[in-house]
Amino acid sequence: MESKIQSHVEIDLLKIQDNAKSIKEYCNRKLIAVVKADAYGHGAVQVANVLHNIADMFAVATVEEGIELRQAGIRNPILILFSTLTDTVDEIISYELTPTIDNWNSASRLNDAVIGRNSLLKFVPIEKANIHLDINTGMNRSGIPHSEAKEFINRLQSLNRLQLEGITTHLATAEEKDQSFVNIQLQRFASSINDVKKSDTGTPFFHAANSAATLSIPDSHFDAVRPGLALYGIYPPNSYYVDLQPVLCWKTHINWINMIESGEGISYGLTHKAKQQTRIAGIQVGYGDGYPRSLSNVGEVLIGGIRRPILGNICMDLTVVGLETSDKVEIGDEVILIGKQGDEEITVDEIAEKANTIPYEILTRIGNRVKKIYT
Ligand SMILES: *Cc1c(COP(=O)(O)O)cnc(C)c1O
Repeated sequence: MESKIQSHVEIDLLKIQDNAKSIKEYCNRKLIAVVKADAYGHGAVQVANVLHNIADMFAVATVEEGIELRQAGIRNPILILFSTLTDTVDEIISYELTPTIDNWNSASRLNDAVIGRNSLLKFVPIEKANIHLDINTGMNRSGIPHSEAKEFINRLQSLNRLQLEGITTHLATAEEKDQSFVNIQLQRFASSINDVKKSDTGTPFFHAANSAATLSIPDSHFDAVRPGLALYGIYPPNSYYVDLQPVLCWKTHINWINMIESGEGISYGLTHKAKQQTRIAGIQVGYGDGYPRSLSNVGEVLIGGIRRPILGNICMDLTVVGLETSDKVEIGDEVILIGKQGDEEITVDEIAEKANTIPYEILTRIGNRVKKIYT
């Protein structure tokens, strides 16, 4: 059922492809396309389907996210970014997912579990499971301490059913202008891997760069880059080298139009009081759809190519916006929450800034109720 009244997002998959190609061309490295959290709200399966010829590998956050891609027929290597607890080792192996390891216990459990297991993709026995090793070089949210990395890498050779395919770290301050801590992390990473021998096929390969580092810190590129946000056409701060196009548009339509008298209030708490007779319009979108409540009385939408203020508190399902008395707008007219209309544009960055958060949170919060339409 198509509802004109409920909001939907339109996602341009060709633009995701273009963004991925531009990034890959610029870096000239392997591309690990990050599609965690349902591809930042864009739909992991759909995004992976259009990137499988461009990305060398996909990255997700959880084993479940990896299985979703496998069951949709994605055959590229899939990296699970965070060290996973051992209760999922069987699925990791049989779906040929590539876990990120940061402790000995997980590594040895995984090694033991490889024996006698068949691939669900190729129906042949699995000989070795690929792993990546996560080194903590200073972000302190995951990874083995960099001071222990060399010894750990040597010790891994005794687990002969594991193949160390990659070694990774994550940068804490890649978005910042001041790169002094990035340099410390990169030095720690480099010294952890400096005597790792690569095979003829180039493994293990090294990777550290999220979007910000991919677009602004060439020294962080190593063998592969690992962008998420940039694929979806959003620039991290302080990065300009690649042309990216926004991918997602969030739309709805005017549900009703009304006139209120001077002194009347709008929505819960009546936090907006009309200073004069005011024409207002209702749209059916709210924080229950992931539209940030903090945009109440602050945010804007586009109607007829003009910015319109959000009046009063955003509700779970409904939001009220202001019109001009003379506007030629009607019930059913298109309303843009994120995207372009005429010469005006509301970007994810603008919404994030006004809602006091980051674009990542705006995108990943867009709710299940909001239908995705692919163009
Ligand atoms: C999410 C994530 C990325 C991608 O980050 P972006 O800023 O979206 O490019 C890369 N690496 C790791 C480990 C991550 O968790």
